[in-house]
Amino acid sequence: MKNKILKRLICTLSLVLISFSLFSFPLYNFKNDTLSSSGYKLRTVIIDAGHGQNPPGTGGHFSLGASGSCSNERDVTLAIALKLQTAIEKDMPGVKVVLTRSTPEDVSWERRSEIANENNGDVFISIHCNSLPDKVEYSHGRRIHVPDRSGKGVLLLVYGFHRTKEEESVIRKKLNEDEAVDETGNGGGDPNDPTTVILMNAIKTKYRKQSIHLADLINTEFVDHDGRHSDGVIEQGVLVLCHSAMPSVLVETGFINNPDDEAYLNSQSGQDEIVASLVRALTNYKKEVEDAAE
Ligand SMILES: [Zn+2]
Repeated sequence: MKNKILKRLICTLSLVLISFSLFSFPLYNFKNDTLSSSGYKLRTVIIDAGHGQNPPGTGGHFSLGASGSCSNERDVTLAIALKLQTAIEKDMPGVKVVLTRSTPEDVSWERRSEIANENNGDVFISIHCNSLPDKVEYSHGRRIHVPDRSGKGVLLLVYGFHRTKEEESVIRKKLNEDEAVDETGNGGGDPNDPTTVILMNAIKTKYRKQSIHLADLINTEFVDHDGRHSDGVIEQGVLVLCHSAMPSVLVETGFINNPDDEAYLNSQSGQDEIVASLVRALTNYKKEVEDAAE
C-alpha cells in the first residue's frame, strides 16, 4: 500500500520536474511558440465575430445567432469586432489583427479555427451576445412561451477539459508542420513518441491557464472599470475555441434579449466601452506574457 503511494508520488514528481524543464529550456522551435522561447512577443490577435447570415444561394447550416427586439447578435458581434480591430491597430503597435469574418456572411466554425491556426494567432477572441431561452408556463391548461429577459451582463467562456482531445489533434498537426524537434532529435508530432505526449500536455496546460488568465483580465475590466454585472469565467466545451491551438476566450458581451443590455450593445458608447475594456485587458496580458518570456 505504502509502496504504491510512494511510487505514485515519485511518478508525479518526475512528471512535474519534466514539465518544469520544458518551461525553462527552449526544447523545440515551432514559430510563434508561447511555451518556451525567450523573447516571445504577442504579434497576432484573431478576432472572431460570432454567427453571420447565410451567404446568398446557400441554405441551412448557418448560425444566425440570437436576436433581441430590434437587433441581431450577428450584426452586433461584427460591429464590435471591426471596432476592436481598429482599436488594437491604433493602441497596440506591432500587433496584427486577423478577423475570421469581416462581412455579414457567416463562416463555418471549422473555417474560423483554420483561419486562426493558419495565421499563427497568439490569442483568439470570439465575440458573442448572450440570450435566455423562453420560459414555458401553463395558463388555463395551455403551454405558453414567455420571454425571459432576466439575464444581464457579461460572461467569459474558456474551453473545458473534456474538449482538449480535439485541441490535441490541432496541436499535433502544428507540431508536425513545424517539424518540431528537441535537442536530441525527438519530438515532432508522432503521437506514440513520449516526448510528443509530454510536450502536448505541457502546451495544453499552458494554453488553458493562459485562456483562463486572459478571461480573468477581461472580466476585471468589465466589472471594475465599466461597472457591469458578470456571471464570471466558466469552462465549457466550445467547438471554435478547442480547435484553435492558442489561448482562446469567448466573450458574451451582454444579453441581447434583455432590453437594457440590447440598448447598450447597440449604442456607440456601449460598443466603445466594451472595445476599450478588451484592449486594456489584451495590453495587460501582452505585457505579462512578454515579461515572463524575458
Ligand atoms: Zn453566440
